[in-house]
Amino acid sequence: MPTTTKQKIVNTLLTSLGKNAKPKIGERPVLEQFIYAILRENTTREVADRVFDNLRERFYDWNEVRVSSTLEIMESFEDALSHADARAQRIIDFLQEIFETTYSFDLELLLEVLQKKGMKQAAKQLARYQAANDYTVAWVMQQSLGGHTIPLDASGIRVLKRMGLVEDAQVELETLRTSIEDQVPKAKGTLFVDVVSALANTHCHADKPACRDCPLHTVCPTGLDTKGKKPR
Ligand code: SF4
Repeated sequence: MPTTTKQKIVNTLLTSLGKNAKPKIGERPVLEQFIYAILRENTTREVADRVFDNLRERFYDWNEVRVSSTLEIMESFEDALSHADARAQRIIDFLQEIFETTYSFDLELLLEVLQKKGMKQAAKQLARYQAANDYTVAWVMQQSLGGHTIPLDASGIRVLKRMGLVEDAQVELETLRTSIEDQVPKAKGTLFVDVVSALANTHCHADKPACRDCPLHTVCPTGLDTKGKKPR
C-alpha cells in the first residue's frame, strides 16, 4: 500500500475517532503504569480504567495486592477481562519481584532508576521482569518515559492489518511496531493507541467486523471490500 494511502487512513482514524478522546499521559507512577498495562492489553481504556480503580479501592495498598490470591484480584476485574487468571498472576509476580528487590513499593524509585539508564537500557530493564511482555514494556516506555513507542496487542494488530497499515508478512512484533511508529506522529502516539483499541471493541471485532457502520469504511481496504455486499 502506498505511504500516502496509509497516511490518509491514519489521519482519518485520528480525526474521526480521536476528536472526543482525551488521552492521559504520565498520570501514574511507573509501578502503576506497569500494572495498568497488564490490565489494558486487549481491552479499551474505559475498561482498564474501571478495573484499575477497582483494584485501588478494594485493596489497602499494593502490598495487600501482592499477598492476595488471584481469585481475590480477579474480583476487581468484573469479568471484563480476557485471561483474567493469568493477568492476576502477572500482577502478583510483578509486585513480588519489585518487593524482593526494593523491600518496598516506592512509587518514584522505579522511574528514577529507568530515567538514569536512557531509553534502550530502560526498555531492557523493564523486559527483565518476569511479568513483562512486549506490550507492557512499550506501554511504560510511552506513558512514563515519553518514548515514541506504540504498544501493540493482538486486537490492535488485527485492526491495523485489516486497514493495511501493516502487512500480513510483517510477523515480527518489533517490525510491526517500528512500521507503525514510522506512520504515527509521536505527539499522537497515545491517542492512536486509544482509538485503535476503541475501534477493535466497537466495530473491528475478531469474528465479524461491522465494516458497514465503521467510520473507517471509506478508507479501510477491508471496509471498501464490503461495498455492495449485503449488510449483516
Ligand atoms: S472498515 Fe471494517 S475492517 Fe476496516 S477498521 Fe472498520 S471494522 Fe475494521
